[in-house]
Amino acid sequence: MNARPQANTFQTITTHYVDGEFVDSHGRQVMDIISPTDRRVIGRVTLGDEEDTRRAIAAARRAFVSYGRTTKEERLEILGRLHKAASARVDDLTAAMIEEYGGVSQFAGLIVQSGVNAFAAAEKALRELLLTRSWDKTTVTLEPVGVAGLITAWNANTLFICLKLASAVAAGCTVVVKPSEMSAIQTRVLLEALHEARLPKGVLNVVTGLGNVVGAELVRNPDVDKISFTGSVAVGEQIMRDGAATMKRVTLELGGKSPTIVLDDAAFEEAIPTALMIAFLNSGQACAAGTRLLVPRTRLDAAKRALREAMRSVTVGDPANPKTAIGPMVSQKQYDRLQSYIRKGIEEGAEVLAGGEGHPEGLEAGYYVKPTVFVNVRNDMTIAQEEIFGPVLSVIAYDSEEDAIRIANDSRYGLHACVIGKDLPRARRVASQIRAGRVVINGMTDDAQAPWGGFKYSGVGREYGRYGIEAFLETRAILET
Ligand code: NAD
Repeated sequence: MNARPQANTFQTITTHYVDGEFVDSHGRQVMDIISPTDRRVIGRVTLGDEEDTRRAIAAARRAFVSYGRTTKEERLEILGRLHKAASARVDDLTAAMIEEYGGVSQFAGLIVQSGVNAFAAAEKALRELLLTRSWDKTTVTLEPVGVAGLITAWNANTLFICLKLASAVAAGCTVVVKPSEMSAIQTRVLLEALHEARLPKGVLNVVTGLGNVVGAELVRNPDVDKISFTGSVAVGEQIMRDGAATMKRVTLELGGKSPTIVLDDAAFEEAIPTALMIAFLNSGQACAAGTRLLVPRTRLDAAKRALREAMRSVTVGDPANPKTAIGPMVSQKQYDRLQSYIRKGIEEGAEVLAGGEGHPEGLEAGYYVKPTVFVNVRNDMTIAQEEIFGPVLSVIAYDSEEDAIRIANDSRYGLHACVIGKDLPRARRVASQIRAGRVVINGMTDDAQAPWGGFKYSGVGREYGRYGIEAFLETRAILET
């Protein structure tokens, strides 16, 4: 087993986790791990190959024979152990997210905590879930789907692994995790924590590697029954296509271009800072980020004033500083992507109210961008239609409540939305017409038992609570004559 990762020490990761042990990588390709704050090489990870993946799948398949037949009580006990083991390392997990990903400490702490809470939430949901129903001579049971491949994105890797693992284990599935290749340090800390839960061998297996190598093997391998994926639409489409050959069950958590609708009775001094907070969640690298702000045209000038004022307290800088609101982008690729979208917005005629191209002054060493607010945006512009995945907000004026709802729904995405207004029945009425998997009213909030997932191109299926567990279950009926 590798040395325990410590923040700010060089990390060398050469093993995967198979059959309850850390095992040397068969794959030989080595990748540098680069700090987003100053581009230093802070570690190296040896990437797994198809053979590593097949070994992990075989271990999960063997373990499924007995784990798939465990009782609800046994799984509840295991979830309790996972929760305890992960809870013990919350600070280390948060430090790793700040160091490797550049997540700001105010948000990284919350993300990690919600990952850890996922085990407790799954425990509660499983306790309440009816796994057997019978009537007359018929008995219907909910059975684990089998071996699950869990594939995660880099923007909240710890949360995604915990959430998917909790649901899978609750359902009686065994898993092979393919974490984002950009999250090797965070995965290592989490694995060391979860190792302490002493799961039955082979229930949890983890292979770090590239998507088109390890991920693709999970998707095409006939011994994997289900893929639960968090990432981009392009890869989600490929998983659906390639998984069809082996009839994979799929849960896809994909992108978003979420609207925040500020109704005309809203108090702007609260509504606008709230809207900015939702837009710039996780430095804007959040699938749920409310990156389209819809304001009444009659109050557009007041909205601009409130935005200028609120942007003054949006600080960019060292993610470890608890006062920082926005940290660096995760990579050079992500930095370049942001710059090209900001340029595109200007070319298409949107007006920069705050921010713009380039690095913020004094932050040239890392992948820092200027948080940017565009006004005079039309909803058909590229910056209003495509997911940018960084701190870029498009402000769009609307003429009436119906117009606001029409614009909000005029998107290929439908993951998340927010409605802000004083008149609660009206805000609820608007919320009920938004084609999105989750709509929050008057601010960001969460509920670990409420479903999470997308309409349209934002994905297929749901996670969290009983909805998340059901995604790892098959229904069987036994009928007697
Ligand atoms: P990505 O699609 O590039 O990668 C996601 C994962 O898929 C990585 O682990 C990657 O290695 C793997 N992968 C790549 N090619 C693969 C293939 N051919 N087969 C199998 N696996 C493959 O996404 P990303 O850049 O890591 O993450 C950003 C995206 O994730 C954004 O679009 C964001 O909106 C989305 N996201 C969605 C949610 C949600 O809950 N809906 C949450 C977070 C992020």
